[in-house]
Amino acid sequence: MERWQLVQRQNFPLDAKIILTEKRIREWVDYYGTYVSYSGGKDSTVLLDICRRLYPSMWAVYCDTGLEYPEVREHVKQTLNVEWLKPKIPFKEVLQKYGYPIISKEYADYIHRLQRSPDNEAIRNKVINGICVSGRPTSFKLPQKWHYLIDSGIKISADCCGVMKKSPLKSFEKKNKLFPIIGVMAAESKRREQNYLKDGCNAFNLKRPQSRPLSIWTDQDILQYIVMEKLPIAKCYGEVVPAGGQLSLFDPPLLETTLCKRTGCVYCGFGCHLEKEPNRFQRLKVTHPRRWEYCMKPMEMDGLGMKPVLLAYGVKIE
Ligand code: SF4
Repeated sequence: MERWQLVQRQNFPLDAKIILTEKRIREWVDYYGTYVSYSGGKDSTVLLDICRRLYPSMWAVYCDTGLEYPEVREHVKQTLNVEWLKPKIPFKEVLQKYGYPIISKEYADYIHRLQRSPDNEAIRNKVINGICVSGRPTSFKLPQKWHYLIDSGIKISADCCGVMKKSPLKSFEKKNKLFPIIGVMAAESKRREQNYLKDGCNAFNLKRPQSRPLSIWTDQDILQYIVMEKLPIAKCYGEVVPAGGQLSLFDPPLLETTLCKRTGCVYCGFGCHLEKEPNRFQRLKVTHPRRWEYCMKPMEMDGLGMKPVLLAYGVKIE
């Protein structure tokens, strides 16, 4: 699929997107009979609502990582028919064993590989110079501005998601012979956009097949749906209110949440350097000061030791 086709679909009215989403869900369920990977965030709350209008007993599975806002956990507790999974080890142990998830998955993974094998010339050449073993340029090169992190003494890695979320879900899928429906949108990141362009909504051909029927939705669609259906969402988002203005004359008025814009993992360091101030850690200090303390305290004092990591990485924490 070409990018213009995605943009065209992203501009469909919400009614049309709901019809398309329902169609993709039906196709997936007919093929696999399945479950919703449910995070308790607003996107997956919308997804679960659409799925359960079609299939009222649709299973939802929540991975209880201990990294969610307490309000999100509370929201999940109030949702019926949810299976709770737990990762094998806690987040703190993931940080100690593998490293901190910072910058982006791709960069963290390459820094980790180099930190693990500092004398491996092939990896060094690839990461630092962008040259592969055959001497040809690679599509990847770690930007110069992050090189100092390689020898900074800060352990960095992208393994956290795998241990905390993917592994418990994979075990569940293997045991129950199911493949997930997940609430991600192409508009969220380059990687998700590329995935959509390559596989469409229903990725039947992947090693771990998955359905992403909200792919062509935008954040505004999610908010419109929540208002339209009077859908309860986690309290940490606050209210959904008019934001003032609209994208075009033909679009509905823009909406926003009064508190959190995103939830996700409270202590995640991925992408926080790109956020406008107040960033997620500055906001956390105001909304959940005890969690902020725990996050910043050194490991020896029973914290997560993230203060020096975030400061070294140029992220303001207060
Ligand atoms: S989103 Fe961040 S904190 Fe959450 S599991 Fe993935 S890497 Fe870890």
